[in-house]
Amino acid sequence: MPIFKSRCPDIILPTKVTTWDWLFDSEFSPLSRFDDADLKGYTNAVTKERVNWREVKEYSAYISTALVKKYGLQPGQTVSLFSQNSIWYPVVMMGALRAGAKISGASPAYNVDEMAYALKTADSKFLMTSPESVGVAVGAAKEAGLSRENVFLLEGKLDGYSTVHDLIAIGKSYGPQGQIPSYKFPAGKGNKDVCGYLSFSSGTTGLPKAVMISHQNVIAQCMQVQQFTPPETTQVLAVLPMFHITGLVHQMHLPVLVNAEVLMTPQFTMPIMLGLIQEYKLKELLLVPPILIRLVRDSIVDEYDTSSVIRFSSGAAPLAPEIIGAMAKRFPQSAVGKPYGQTGLKQGYGMTESCSCITAFPLHRVEGYKLGNAVGEIVANTEVKIIKENGGEAEIGEAGEIVARGPQITMGYLANETATRETYEPGGWLRTGDSGMIDDDGIIHILDRIKEMIKVKGSQVAPAELEDLLLGHPKVEDCAVMGIPDDYAGELPKAFVVLKTGIDKDAGVCKELIKYVKEKKTKYKWIKEIELTDEIPKSGSGKILRRMLRDRANGADKGV
Ligand code: AMP
Repeated sequence: MPIFKSRCPDIILPTKVTTWDWLFDSEFSPLSRFDDADLKGYTNAVTKERVNWREVKEYSAYISTALVKKYGLQPGQTVSLFSQNSIWYPVVMMGALRAGAKISGASPAYNVDEMAYALKTADSKFLMTSPESVGVAVGAAKEAGLSRENVFLLEGKLDGYSTVHDLIAIGKSYGPQGQIPSYKFPAGKGNKDVCGYLSFSSGTTGLPKAVMISHQNVIAQCMQVQQFTPPETTQVLAVLPMFHITGLVHQMHLPVLVNAEVLMTPQFTMPIMLGLIQEYKLKELLLVPPILIRLVRDSIVDEYDTSSVIRFSSGAAPLAPEIIGAMAKRFPQSAVGKPYGQTGLKQGYGMTESCSCITAFPLHRVEGYKLGNAVGEIVANTEVKIIKENGGEAEIGEAGEIVARGPQITMGYLANETATRETYEPGGWLRTGDSGMIDDDGIIHILDRIKEMIKVKGSQVAPAELEDLLLGHPKVEDCAVMGIPDDYAGELPKAFVVLKTGIDKDAGVCKELIKYVKEKKTKYKWIKEIELTDEIPKSGSGKILRRMLRDRANGADKGV
C-alpha cells in the first residue's frame, strides 16, 4: 500500500510559539536577522504608504493592547476582516493574533446576507472593514448581533467609526509598561492545538464552512514553501485577495519570514498591475489562471515594459497547456517553456484545508519536463496517498483521489463535526476531493475535481448555497447546480431545475431565475445558464448524482 513521501529535507518545526512570536520575537524573525535599514515591509504600491516589520511589531502590540484593555477582546474570540487589500489588513491581523484571538477573512465582494453568514459561522465579535465595505459590514454586523462599537475602519475616516489609527493611539496611551504581553498557549498546549485563523471553504460538499487553521499550520506552511522560494525573492506583488488562504500565507506571513517587500494594491486592474511590474521591475509574479489568461490575451500588455519578469507562480485552479505555451511566447525573457522551464512557471497545488500547498514546484527540475497539469512535488514533512475508485491505494502512474497528511493539514471545520469527519480521516489524512496521480519523478498531476465545489476565477462557489437559494423560489420544485467550463473564468455555475407543476417551461422562467440569483448573491456566484429538466438524478439516500448531470451537461447543450 504505497504512501508517497516528500523528497524535501525534513523541517524541524517550532512547537510552542504563536505565529506572532515566531515572526516578530524569535530567532526566525527578520528583526533578529537583519539590520533595521534592510527590513522590508508592507507598501501600498499606489500611495506609497509603508510600514516595515519593526513598525508592524510595534503597531500590532498597541492594537492588541487597545483591543484587550479598552474593548474587552478575549483570547479565542474571533476578529473578522472584511476589506480590500490594505497595508493595515495584516497589521490589524497581527494585532488580533498577538492578543490570542482568531482572525477570519471574508471576501469584500460579499453582500449583507453572505457577510452575516460569515460572521455567524465564525462567531465573530469584532469586525475590521474599509469605507467602501462599511455599509455591508454594518448591515451584516446588525444581522449577526455584533455590537456597532466593535466595527472598526482599516483605512480612511468616517464619522462615528474608530479607525486602526485610533486603536494604535489608544494602545500607545497605556505607555510602555501598560502594554499587554503577547499571548502564550495554556499549559499543556502547543501551536498545533490552538486555532489562530478561520478561512471559508465549502470543502468536498455542502455550504461554506469555517476551516480552523492552527498557528502551527501557518508556521509549517511558510517553512515548507520557503524551501521552494528562490533567494532573489525580494518583492511580492500582492494582487490576490488577502482573505483567501493564498493571500494569508503567501502575501502576509511568508514575506515576513523571507524578508520580501509586499506591494499591495487596494483593487486589481490590469493597468495597475502592469504599471507596477514596470515601475518596480518585478521579477516574479504570483497569480491565478484568470489573470495569467489576461496577461497573454489582453493587448494592453504591449503598452508596458514587462521584460523584468522571469518567473510566474500559479495555483488555485488548473492552468491550460495552451496558456503556458502562450506565456512562453509573450514573455520570451522568462524561463517559461524552456529547458528547466518549470523554473519559469511554478504551479502549486493545495486547498484551504491544507493551509495552501500540498505540492510546490522546485527550483531545479529535470529537463524536458512536461508542464500543464503538473503541480510540483510533495512539500516537506508531508505524505500523499492516491486512493483509487475501488478503494485501493494507487501505484505510481495510477489515478485516484489525492489524500494528504502533514503539519499544514488543518484542524477541521468549526462547530461542524459531520463535515469534519467526512473530510478529515483518522490518522491525520485529508481527503482533497481532487483526482490526480504521481509520476516517476515524484511530481503530482491534477486530473480532475471530484468534489462538488465550483471555481470561478479561482474563487469558490458552493453548489449547495445556490441550490438552497433556488429551492426557496416559489416556482422551483428541485434543482442541482454544477460547474461548466468557461474559457476565461475556468468554470461558471449552471443549474438544472425541475419546475413546480403548472409552471410554464419557457425561456422566461429561466431568465427570471437567473435574475433572482443575481439579486441575492454576489457577482462571481451568478448562474450562467439554466437547464429545465423533469427530474434531478439522486441516489437511494437522496444525494444528487452529480456525475450523471455532468455527463449530461458535457453531452448536450440545451441551456438557455
Ligand atoms: P481553495 O480551498 O479555494 O484553495 O480551493 C482548493 C481547490 O482548488 C483544490 O481542491 C483544487 O480543486 C483546486 N486547485 C488548487 N490548485 C490547483 C492547481 N494547481 N491545479 C488544479 N486545481 C487546483
